[in-house]
Amino acid sequence: MSLTMKYWGVRGSLPSSPSPGDWNNHIEGLLRGFFNAGLREASQVSKYIDSLGTSHLGGYGAATTSVEVKSPRSRIIIDGGSGIRSLSEQIMSGKAGASKGPFHIFMTHFHWDHVIGLPFFTPHFVPGVQIHYYAVQPDLEKNIRRVFEKPYFPVPFESLASKIHFHVLEPRKTIEVDDMKVTPYKLDHPDPCWGFRVECNNKVYAHCVDTEGTRVSREELGEDLPLYQGVDLMYFDAQYTFPELAEKANWGHSAAQVGLDIAFREGIKQVYFAHHDPGATIQQVQELKRQTLEYYDWRLNTAKENNEGLHPVQWDFAYEGLTVKI
Ligand SMILES: [Zn+2]
Ligand SMILES: [Zn+2]
Repeated sequence: MSLTMKYWGVRGSLPSSPSPGDWNNHIEGLLRGFFNAGLREASQVSKYIDSLGTSHLGGYGAATTSVEVKSPRSRIIIDGGSGIRSLSEQIMSGKAGASKGPFHIFMTHFHWDHVIGLPFFTPHFVPGVQIHYYAVQPDLEKNIRRVFEKPYFPVPFESLASKIHFHVLEPRKTIEVDDMKVTPYKLDHPDPCWGFRVECNNKVYAHCVDTEGTRVSREELGEDLPLYQGVDLMYFDAQYTFPELAEKANWGHSAAQVGLDIAFREGIKQVYFAHHDPGATIQQVQELKRQTLEYYDWRLNTAKENNEGLHPVQWDFAYEGLTVKI
């Protein structure tokens, strides 16, 4: 194993949990499932819970995008959505590796859902800690300083005790962070947004959130095609259903079917879909998953009928706290 990804937040646009009413419906469904399965005893509860799987039971989480990518020798963090607060707690408790850093935070872009957790990343306030920010956008430093600006946050950037460094990346040019190689490629999203290809010991992680996936063919992707080639695990934007994509053109988010098409063609082994809509209940994300399975099976069966070799792809919808090793 060369890379371990932990998804501290997988929701898109705004931190959002299903409402208390939605939770009531969900819990009612779980209880009905217990009795419909012919189970009656309290001693059978744990087994029933174990059989459901994390997201079926507890949903997908409320926090927005923040991903920890660990290699044997180092760690980077991609984006500072509200999920970075939980990572911060782990770091400060000493459970998530060295609390003194240095920390390497790569920013895809600066929409609220990707920066809202940054002021709650406690290492910012610890003297002696080194924090490195990276982004392709030349206004990286200005954008990060703004997150700590009064009256939006009480502690101004100038008062932070840590030492903060800014690194503006060149598009499609690889930089090394210890034993990891990180290369930014452009995604299809307003303002704009850059995905990251992370490599270590011949394992490749492709971070492709946020993207609409308007460019799909190899010709359209052009110089950004390497983001999707030779990839072990791709993290892809699937905020919408396939029909919603047409209604929400230029909103900058995609559907799982688009990601699967790219994965089939490029031989990507594993895909996790995320950036779940803030309004989506557990059942709605599960419905997206059902539609994706229908499409996946249809693609495989059609390929079989036409004697077209199609690589199976292992895929699922990401939930908060998910850890994947490649
Ligand atoms: Zn987003
Ligand atoms: Zn965005």
